[in-house]
Amino acid sequence: MDTILVTGGAGFIGSNFVRYWLREEPGRLVNLDKLTYAGNLDSLADVLDDPRHVFVQGDICDGPMVRQLLEEFRPWAIVNFAAESHVDRSIDGPAEFVQTNVVGTFRLLEAARDYWSGLSADEKERFRFLHVSTDEVYGSLGPTGYFTEETPYAPNSPYSASKAAADHFARAYHHTYGLPVLVTNCSNNYGPYQFPEKLIPLMILNAVEGKPLPVYGDGQNIRDWLYVEDHCRALRLVLKKAKPGSEYNIGGNCERTNLQVVHAICEIVDRLRPDLPHRPCSQLITFVQDRPGHDRRYAIDASKIRRELGWEPQETFETGLERTVRWYLENTTWVERVTSGKYRRERLGLGRLK
Ligand code: NAD
Repeated sequence: MDTILVTGGAGFIGSNFVRYWLREEPGRLVNLDKLTYAGNLDSLADVLDDPRHVFVQGDICDGPMVRQLLEEFRPWAIVNFAAESHVDRSIDGPAEFVQTNVVGTFRLLEAARDYWSGLSADEKERFRFLHVSTDEVYGSLGPTGYFTEETPYAPNSPYSASKAAADHFARAYHHTYGLPVLVTNCSNNYGPYQFPEKLIPLMILNAVEGKPLPVYGDGQNIRDWLYVEDHCRALRLVLKKAKPGSEYNIGGNCERTNLQVVHAICEIVDRLRPDLPHRPCSQLITFVQDRPGHDRRYAIDASKIRRELGWEPQETFETGLERTVRWYLENTTWVERVTSGKYRRERLGLGRLK
């Protein structure tokens, strides 16, 4: 059966990708996830019973286990989402970021190389290793200019440094061993199932609850936002159409300051929840001490993927944000189980689901 192996498929982007792939493609998807605090089986509730979705709890750092999975399921592609992904956590404790993002990606590449070398010539030709990365590897921009695929790497946080190291290993495995590697660097994602430590879900949930909306520094840091399903659509195109060894930047051409994002969320929450006693929600905005080394501006030039693969985002920031706020307002059980920590307590002791 046509199979792909996805790592980190219980996280934010991974769970959206799993759902999108199963909807668009007929084959089987094996989902390997360690279920850290960021991994949540609730985010896969509607696809856990799908016979084409095989969930395996495991660590990408466990090379022999990954190698065994590859042998058992014989995928034609690996899509690597598994990572520690939160910049603030990387500042407080970088070791886990080195372990999963660098060592984990290396072990995955090693297992893939070993597996790939035993494939037939046709299978080798078709095989892809897609490493999903971030625009943060490029460092910070001034008020003008864009990150292109040629921009030199200049990571500034332990998170982006660990992702940069992983990207370099992925690239080197193509250059040195010929492994058909693809690397994508995407701007900030937002959408359903994002863990509420990240800016957009945090602000939505705090706005609903009447809690302060903490904005770093002067709120003028700029990020380039992309709706998560548009990212998933881009990844599917890269997997199916890109030449081995290619790198693609992915972004929505949608720069907003953090303060603009928070005001936009407040405006939607005010409109959708006229019953809230603390409206307008913007009065909850509180400026807090800036993150150390906070990058000022990220902006992606996505013209290569648009030109070569015909990718176009389908959501604007306004439509995507409205969908996202509505999703958080409607999915109160998911939110309650994440914020109370119940989603973690109930899954301890879980092994392979199928
Ligand atoms: P996330 O933190 O929501 O999810 C990460 C997932 O990886 C979780 O399910 C976690 O359990 C799993 N995981 C962590 N360590 C693991 C390990 N050792 N073995 C197996 N699974 C492990 O992250 P996300 O926001 O969905 O990001 C996914 C990927 O996309 C990351 O590689 C990230 O760097 C990249 N990315 C994210 C964004 C963004 O805006 N969120 C933008 C560009 C790129």
